[in-house]
Amino acid sequence: MLNTAPAARRAIPSLDKLLRLEGIQSLIARHGRALVTAAARGELAALRATLSHGSAVQGAFDEAAFVARCAERVEREIAPSLRPVFNLTGTVLHTNLGRAPMPEYAARAVARAMTRPVNLEFDLGGGERGERDRHVERWLTRLSGAEAALIVNNNAAAVYLALNTLALKKEVPVSRGELIEIGGAFRMPDIMARSGVKLVEVGTTNRTHLKDYAAAIGPRTAALMKVHTSNYAIEGFTASVAERDLAALARKHRIPFIVDLGSGILVDLEEYGLPHEPTPREALASGADLVTFSGDKLLGGPQAGLVVGRADLVERLRRNPMKRALRVDKMTLAALEAVLTAYADPGRLRAALPALAALTRPADEIREQAGRLLPAVTAALRGKAEAEILACRSQIGSGSLPTDLIPSAAIAVSVSGKRRGALAATIASAFRALPVPVIGRVKDGAFVMDLRCLDHEQEFVEQLKHLDLKGIEE
Ligand SMILES: *Cc1c(COP(=O)(O)O)cnc(C)c1O
Repeated sequence: MLNTAPAARRAIPSLDKLLRLEGIQSLIARHGRALVTAAARGELAALRATLSHGSAVQGAFDEAAFVARCAERVEREIAPSLRPVFNLTGTVLHTNLGRAPMPEYAARAVARAMTRPVNLEFDLGGGERGERDRHVERWLTRLSGAEAALIVNNNAAAVYLALNTLALKKEVPVSRGELIEIGGAFRMPDIMARSGVKLVEVGTTNRTHLKDYAAAIGPRTAALMKVHTSNYAIEGFTASVAERDLAALARKHRIPFIVDLGSGILVDLEEYGLPHEPTPREALASGADLVTFSGDKLLGGPQAGLVVGRADLVERLRRNPMKRALRVDKMTLAALEAVLTAYADPGRLRAALPALAALTRPADEIREQAGRLLPAVTAALRGKAEAEILACRSQIGSGSLPTDLIPSAAIAVSVSGKRRGALAATIASAFRALPVPVIGRVKDGAFVMDLRCLDHEQEFVEQLKHLDLKGIEE
């Protein structure tokens, strides 16, 4: 029987009746009434909308299909929004993909802290109230040589807290060459303004001299600050002032010298074959009074902002009421303590920190992996596109060492012909639609997957059978 649209509409049972269906009842038993009712209501509305567009339907109302579509709706609704992905972008510490991947032992420490009461702010010796930062302070001071340390939510918060505490309603000179923007709306001038500090720009974009700072210092100057220009490089006719000289100038005027390092690795990266990145220990040795850096950049830990330096200044930051608003929770502290413990043995650090392991993977090993994976990728393309191995260069990311690229290997997927450029985006979107989305990069008309950060290789291969290059003809 072919139903006309109005007749088919009349044939749809009422919501009440549909909710009594056995299949719907068992969905309710599993997921609760609210979610399932909403799904049934949505499905019903969709059905009515289709019919009012005049399409004829075949036969009677299909109860089983209705239940199945409701189940799909519920599944979509409860599926986690935050999901694992494959970071094959070629940027190891990718801010949009969660920066440093963390080791299992850190995840276990977090799970322990989450599921049981912990001595977060409790001194087990005296049985009194304690200070939450103490759990990581001993490691941070040991690893940086600082007198004291403090931890907040991220490095932007660390910079904010330092400036707001030491220079509220006063002036801080900063070189014009260091007024940086980090992706995601961290602009040094904006942070300074919001922390209640008047920024005094000194020098020029490419050259700033000690005398520029000296000329900017007046009765209202509360601190000197140097910002590590981590995500770009000024090359050519340039000059900046060494930390040692700025520290001496600050001391002469009895004002603190703050260094915002950004990435702030706690070991010498050159020992792992990577370009040198300044460490908090070096900045402190050069005379910095406070150094701020991130927990989830090269350090390889959780999102956090770390401040190390002079005990009296750290104590002033700690007493700022805003510290309470910027403090970290027990999960962050558990993860950070676990990761910092790994730094006790630099010889084993590569094995203990997934971010460092990814950064130091030899290009040969990655090329070998590309060779191993190429047949599986080619098979998954079913003749609709071609895959090839390319040499490429990875970036460290998160603002570190922008000009230092690390040799790596990639699998590039593309089609030949006129539509090559347009279809690269289609290929990228098909890879993003996989159960564990694969995030690569579109470059020169190809979808490029840098394999440096590919860790769950088996999972990557197994899910390729779901690749659906719809929109591309053979
Ligand atoms: C990354 C960075 C920041 C911001 O740090 P978050 O941890 O992302 O808040 C600030 N300053 C510099 C120099 C940076 O590189």
